[in-house]
Amino acid sequence: MPEFKTIIGLEIHCQLKTKSKMFCSCNNNAENAEPNTLVCPVCLAMPGTLPVTNQTAVEMTVMTGLAFGCQIPVESKFDRKHYFYPDLPKGYQISQYDQPLCKGGSVEINDHIIRLNRIHLEEDAGKLTHPVGKDHSLVDLNRAGTPLMEIVSEPDITTPAEARQFMEELQLALRYLGVSDADMEKGHLRCDANISIQKNGKSSPIVEIKNLNSFKFVEQALAFEEKRLTADFANWPENRLKITRGFDSNKGITFEQRRKEEAADYRYFPEPDLPPIQISESRISEIKKEIKELPKQKHQRYVDAGIRPDIAEKLIRQPQLVEYLESAAELKHDIALFVSEEVSRALVENKISFADYQKRVPISKIADLLNLVGEGIISKTSAKEIFAEMIMTGEAPAGIIKKQGLEQVSDCSELESTINRVVDENPDLVEKYRAGKTQVIGFFVGKIMQTTKGKANPQVLNRLLTQRLSK
Ligand code: ZN
Ligand code: MN
Repeated sequence: MPEFKTIIGLEIHCQLKTKSKMFCSCNNNAENAEPNTLVCPVCLAMPGTLPVTNQTAVEMTVMTGLAFGCQIPVESKFDRKHYFYPDLPKGYQISQYDQPLCKGGSVEINDHIIRLNRIHLEEDAGKLTHPVGKDHSLVDLNRAGTPLMEIVSEPDITTPAEARQFMEELQLALRYLGVSDADMEKGHLRCDANISIQKNGKSSPIVEIKNLNSFKFVEQALAFEEKRLTADFANWPENRLKITRGFDSNKGITFEQRRKEEAADYRYFPEPDLPPIQISESRISEIKKEIKELPKQKHQRYVDAGIRPDIAEKLIRQPQLVEYLESAAELKHDIALFVSEEVSRALVENKISFADYQKRVPISKIADLLNLVGEGIISKTSAKEIFAEMIMTGEAPAGIIKKQGLEQVSDCSELESTINRVVDENPDLVEKYRAGKTQVIGFFVGKIMQTTKGKANPQVLNRLLTQRLSK
């Protein structure tokens, strides 16, 4: 019996982090700005104003396209997309219809290629808020005219979990490219997800779930819709219906909003106030050279440097730690491992800001610490203790070792072999100790101190000896 097939495609809107807006010189960073303070006649849609294309936004989009293997046509253009909504003062959005900046391309997730249909550039609308219990709504036009890059995938995604992974991959790549902060909570990245179910050549309606603003919601909403469409499958009519639904994140369910407009309803036509965009081959190859190392390439370079693949994988998802690690003189596995485990844990546990941490413990001090382990001067366990002290005081490992007398343990392994010898020579006393007569430990301490001529650090000796006797 043929199985149900889930078909998912995503449209992702990404706010570009340019200095100014898409078609005017207003500040594009509206964070912490009072409503309607970052506006001008152009983004307020005053009659007689003319838009001017933000070249940086165009180049950021081209760079993103190149990074995903898109084809960059020599010429593209802007179009007006008409619709009426209170957050859109012009009554149309400047977008791109039939000649986007980037065509094709792909994103790879666990060896599965998700093809891209296109990446185009457009402007954002303003933001509406609906105060509870009031009979009016408020509009903030600070966001009107913010450059938005829209990334459209082909319907190649097969599960809600894969849709989430796609978003996560994309976010990481956009951050590495430096074109967007891609923070979903702040609305830099918003996702519309299309889903349908197929079986035996029959298809459910295509449902578009609008405005998903977290990774979790993308997966949850799609899983809910997948279930709903499958359960009702036999009852769906044969026509290729398109339905728009919203997601209620409190209830974890989707709800119908409207039957979708077709492209014709938007009355697209070429934007008469803007010239077509032309990008020369030479500019494209320049932009190609400006592309920073992407997560996948970085991963490969780490593995080539001898870093374990799973550690490399964990690290590349934490750009701060990556930057920290790469400030080391040399890329080495032991440093990478320490950063991925100890440093990352310490940052969570100590609730210390990364900036403060970095001031106290530059990566060179981690390298020093691990060298001391490598030379057998300290054990891995004391390295962790010393590291905790380094975070608190910012002191160098050598200073901490001296201060805490840890250098006496310099021959931890020598001390251990002395302990082993003395313990093995006195099986009867070991038995007494294990039977509860713990005071016999004094005999062992005395004997070992005698053997080491008093050089053993008493605390360390006590710890190692207790460990040995309890085995
Ligand atoms: Zn403006
Ligand atoms: Mn759009």
